[in-house]
Order: sequence, then structure tokens, then C-alpha cells
Amino acid sequence: MTRPLVASIDIAAMQHNLSVVRSTVPRAKIWAVVKANAYGHGLERSVRAFTDADGFALIEIESAIHLREIGWKKPILLLEGFFYPHELPILARYSIAFAVHCDEQIDMLEKARLEMPVDVHLKMNTGMNRLGFLPSEYGKALERLKKIPYVRDISYMTHFANSEAEDHPALSVAEQLRRFDSATQGLKGDRNLSNSGAILLHPGIRTDWVRPGIMLYGGTPGGKTAEQYGLKPAMTLKSEIIQTQHIGEGEAIGYGSIFTAKNPMTIGVVACGYADGYPRMAPEGTPVIVNGIKTRLVGRVSMDMITVDLTPVPDAHVGSEVTLWGKGLPIDEVAEAAGTVGYELMCALSLRPRIVEC
Ligand code: PLP
Repeated sequence: MTRPLVASIDIAAMQHNLSVVRSTVPRAKIWAVVKANAYGHGLERSVRAFTDADGFALIEIESAIHLREIGWKKPILLLEGFFYPHELPILARYSIAFAVHCDEQIDMLEKARLEMPVDVHLKMNTGMNRLGFLPSEYGKALERLKKIPYVRDISYMTHFANSEAEDHPALSVAEQLRRFDSATQGLKGDRNLSNSGAILLHPGIRTDWVRPGIMLYGGTPGGKTAEQYGLKPAMTLKSEIIQTQHIGEGEAIGYGSIFTAKNPMTIGVVACGYADGYPRMAPEGTPVIVNGIKTRLVGRVSMDMITVDLTPVPDAHVGSEVTLWGKGLPIDEVAEAAGTVGYELMCALSLRPRIVEC
């Protein structure tokens, strides 16, 4: 018997979202960010959806090689670069560009004696304090790279910490840009800057390449809702009611008995739990749609099931359709109720739900 839990991936929605990137920043080339199995949507599926992208950016070297093996000929970029010397000849052979963010990587590059050229994106730490050279160290790193004969194109890259905000008191996009601009003034080569938040809220940033991730999948980076940005949800997770229970006043539901019925009520048991990727910390009240009607989660999320209040849906029964997120219920709304972000829900989708394309 097949468990009634299905994630539908809407290729047309992904294509539409890519076209939103194109029309928002028409002069920039697009790295479609497909790390983490294309944010849970499937790498190969994303290749079909994003054939019009100018390149793919990701973290996992195995997936980058796979992209070449299945025939992707346009650029590929590793956003965290490489970690070990033995990876360098492989990157050169498969023509996979990579970020360079620390001196240790340049040491490895210098020693590699590669027989084929590599393209690199020199990453600047403009305040996020994760990866990259400080503006004051950037020139020296660049000079070292320029001396390596097999380093071909050098692009300039940074990552914004708060691009979903118009302004941010701790670190604004404007301040990060100011630092980036002053350290790259007069340099020849491509600028590689904007993630989804920067594309949507700061479309005027001068950049040769943009790096959208979440918006391609129909999630919001923050600020407005995905719908307000004109994005369409790419992943819809649906299940069914597999049992109904009539609960008396004062009775509790599920592990830990964290929900007690104030009045007699009917609940539905839904075939989706945290082993499927539903957030275990989702509290009572997290929205769920049953038969097209919005209701709420009650009781603790367990490994294979959740329980929902059927009071607003009196005719619900075993087999009734339940939408966990996607079309009709934005993933960001569920994520917010669960104290997380749409990114995490997409990436956490496990191997258990059946995946179909629509
Ligand atoms: N660029 C880099 C370096 C990233 O790490 C990410 C994702 O975290 C992205 C771009 C895409 O960001 P977003 O999904 O917010 O568009």
C-alpha cells in the first residue's frame, strides 16, 4: 500500500519564477542556485526547469560533476569553493568554477600545478563574517591569484547578510556594497553579488551575475510574501486523513498530551510527520488545509503523523485531502508558525514522500 503523502513539483512555476528574476534584473546573468538537491526540488528536475539560466551555482562537488555528466554545458560555480587539493584537477577537468575565500585555498591552488585552467570567484567578507577575505586583505589575495598561471578568469563576489531588508541597523546592503565597491574599484572582471532578497528589494545593484535561490522555488527571502513578489509555489505537499477521532472534553491528544480538548471535538490524523520533513516544533495553530478549508494543527507532531482540528470541516473523513504547504497554503506561512523559514522546510523534505511533477 502506498502511503498517501505526495510532494508535487511544478516545473512551470519554477520556469515562471526564473522569468521573474529575468524581468527584475534584465541585464544580469543568472546563476540558478541548486544546492541541497535544488532546495529539495530535485537536481535533474531543476535542470529541466532552469534551462534558460546562465549557470548553476551549488555547494556539492558531486552534484556539480553530475550536472556535467547529464549534459549541462553552461557555467557551474561552487559557492563554497573546494576543500582538498585532490579536488582541483577534477574541477579543472569538468570546467567547474569555484569561490576562493581563504589563504589556505590559495596555498593549495599554488601547489596544484594544474594542466588545465580554472575560473575563480574571489569572495570578499563585507561584514557577514562567514566566508571571504576582508576588504583590507582582498588586494593581496588577488595578486597571489593573478600570479598562478592556470587561474584564468577572476570574478568578484560577496554575499549579503540582510538583503531582505530595505535597511538594517547592524549591517545594511548599502554598507556591504560600499565596502565591496571601494575594494574592487577599477578591477576588471565580473561582479557576482545578489541573492533573492537583493534581486527583489535592491534590483538596482550593479552586478554582472545574480544568485537567486529561494525565489526560484516560490518562497520569499523575507520582506513581502512570495505572492506579493509575483512568485509561484513550486512544491506542494499533500496527504490525506487516515483516521478520525471523536475526543471528549478534557481528553488529550498524542505524545506528551500537550493539547487537551476544551469541548468535544473531532480530529483528523494525517499521514505526514517529522520523518517526512514536517517541522517537529510546529505548535498548535500551525495552519493546515483540509478539503480546501483552513484549519489548525493540534497536539505534538510525531514521526509519521500529525493531528488536526476538524471542527471547521465537519464533513471531512478518511481519505479527505490535506495540504501541508504549497498551492493554497504558502510554505512561508507554515514555516513562520513553526518558528523557521521556508528554506528549511523545502530542504528538509525527506526521501519518504512520493514526488510527482505537475
Ligand atoms: N549565494 C550564496 C553564497 C548563498 O549561500 C545562497 C544561499 O544561501 C544564495 C546565493 C541564494 O540565496 P537565496 O536562496 O536567499 O536567494
